[in-house]
This record gives sequence, C-alpha cells and structure tokens, in this order.
Amino acid sequence: MSVITIAPINFSNPELIDKIISELKKYLPYKINLQPLQINLNFAYSVERGQYYSTKIIQHLLPFAENINGKFLALVEVDLFIPVFTYVFGEAQLNGKVSIVSLTRLHEEFYSGISDEKLLIERSVKEILHELGHNFGLIHCKDWDCVMHSSLGIEEVDIKGIDYCSNCKRLIRL
Ligand SMILES: [Zn+2]
Ligand SMILES: [Zn+2]
Repeated sequence: MSVITIAPINFSNPELIDKIISELKKYLPYKINLQPLQINLNFAYSVERGQYYSTKIIQHLLPFAENINGKFLALVEVDLFIPVFTYVFGEAQLNGKVSIVSLTRLHEEFYSGISDEKLLIERSVKEILHELGHNFGLIHCKDWDCVMHSSLGIEEVDIKGIDYCSNCKRLIRL
C-alpha cells in the first residue's frame, strides 16, 4: 500500500487543504499524510520572470522526502515555471518520489476575477492526481476522460476527467 505525503508550503489556509485532501481520498485509496512546511522559496525565484523555478524547488525538497515512505507532493501558492514554458501547473519526477503543484493558476479569480472554491478544489485534485501519476511512472494519456491527459491551459484542466482511465489505473495497480 502506497503512502502519499502532501506538504503545503507556506500555506495560510489550512481549511482549503483539508477540503482538497478529503476530495483527493475519493480517487486515491492510499494513506495520505499531511506535512505543512515553512520554507523560504527565494532560492527558486527568477527576478526576470517574477516566477519560481519548479525544478529547483523539487531538488530542494529531495532531502525532506528522503526519510519518508512513498510519494511526496508539495503544494505551493507561488506561480511556477520551467524554462521552456511560460508557466506550469506542476512538475513531477517521472517514476520518482517528489512532485509539486501550484494553486496560483487553478484559482478561477486568476482568469475571471470571480472566486469559485468548488472549482479550485476540483482543479487542485486533478493536478495532484496528474503529478502523482507521473511519480507512479505514468506518462501522458490520449484519453480526455483521463486525468493523465496533458493540460497546457486551464481550459484543458477543466475538460479532462478527474480520475485515471482504466488503462492508467491498471498500470499503477489502482
Ligand atoms: Zn504531465
Ligand atoms: Zn489514462
């Protein structure tokens, strides 16, 4: 049985985390541990871009993850990038231990100015399941009903399904 550690970094709203985790449990029948962290993320900040380099944060988290069982997913509220993209919703070590998801661009108010907590939770669960899927060795899936479909924009996050398709489930033995 796998164990997932969810590590919210510098989060101000623990209630939101609780709601995301209770929704996450519907799709992931694994033990989920919560490990809030306070980490200064300045080392990953790019002044030119005004964003945080997600690969650097993942590298920084490896020692935190080393001593725990299972997968380790960090949740952040800062905007993430990797050099080839203008932004990323998250990043994961394929077949590895650590992944990261940013909530910045999952907030509906980022786009329309209107806040929608239910949508934020749904988008967060999708992106968490997606990055964990990479940690479990899954690559992108062509099935739009599958959470492992790639999503370059928020529309694609909303279009794709919230669960793994039967094929992806079989691959990760869910
Ligand atoms: Zn992906
Ligand atoms: Zn799939």
